[in-house]
Amino acid sequence: MNQISMKKLGAENSRLQKKANFKSCSVPDNMRMECLGKIIKAHTISKCLGLSDLAIKGRVLGLPQKPNLFEYHKNGGKLEILEMGVNEASVLQCFCAKHDREIFSPIENEDFIASPEQCFLLAYRALINEWYKSVQVDLADVLSEKMKQKSNEAFHQFICDEIPDYVQETEWKKRDLNHDKDIFDDILINKNFSKIKHYIFMGDRSSDMVCSFTLNPDISFENKEIQNYNSPDYLASVYVNGISCEGNSYVIFSWIDNDYTNKVINNFFGGLRSKDNDTIENDIFEFIIKNSENNFFSIKWYESLNRTQTKYLDAWVQPLSNRKLNNMNHKIRFMGLQKHYLL
Ligand SMILES: [Zn+2]
Repeated sequence: MNQISMKKLGAENSRLQKKANFKSCSVPDNMRMECLGKIIKAHTISKCLGLSDLAIKGRVLGLPQKPNLFEYHKNGGKLEILEMGVNEASVLQCFCAKHDREIFSPIENEDFIASPEQCFLLAYRALINEWYKSVQVDLADVLSEKMKQKSNEAFHQFICDEIPDYVQETEWKKRDLNHDKDIFDDILINKNFSKIKHYIFMGDRSSDMVCSFTLNPDISFENKEIQNYNSPDYLASVYVNGISCEGNSYVIFSWIDNDYTNKVINNFFGGLRSKDNDTIENDIFEFIIKNSENNFFSIKWYESLNRTQTKYLDAWVQPLSNRKLNNMNHKIRFMGLQKHYLL
């Protein structure tokens, strides 16, 4: 890249970082007047629900937390799993101090028993994480503006070649996220937690990986197409949280309880839930790594993987990796799956 292109990359990078630092409280509109205190750096994955457990001397492994075009360019468009402080992991500035404390108190201050309220709050956090980045901060738009400029410069080429995933965000996605947030906000205010369904996979030891993310599933665990991204219709979402507490691990899939979404989720799981626990854990792990950027690992666990397993993991975290599952027996164990059930 020449000097002018580097300069432009620098300017674009600061704009992107500035956008990523945007702060506002994400509560329902009619709760805004109660906001109190600063917008705080809130963890999208609770420290007390596994993140602290898997840290060694306060350090964990994960993907870069802020878009950094220089790093991206340096690595030839590849994402690298990095070591970071647990306080930097999974942080967004999306609630004021009062609301962060009050809303999430049942998962931050009470024993985790996978109650409908606690599972709802985990799903709510995953939704807000996605809504905040896509609708409030709107990182995709910064880059799509650039995409629209008709120029053949090296910088434009760089953006086109190496960051297509940022521009795939569409107006449809924002519309669907706003729609889902209205439903979640209503549940939060009226405490009718049964409007969200959960499927829980539970293990008998602490987890070596935690995650929290939202996905519009387009393929099932058996790689069958279940929704079409190119259709203007509403797409159902699944909210996924991997946590651990008191020596147990949980991977919780949550969704809005309506006929369309129930059908999509049923197709999404396919025959997964009738398989043996080892096969399920293989497939869940591959699914999470291929679909989530917001996941963190224990350093010791990562070092215990053999070379082939590390190679799989490093390939699967890439944003443009083929998201179809290999359904293979890679034997990477992160949770010690024992049972699973619908809540
Ligand atoms: Zn607030």
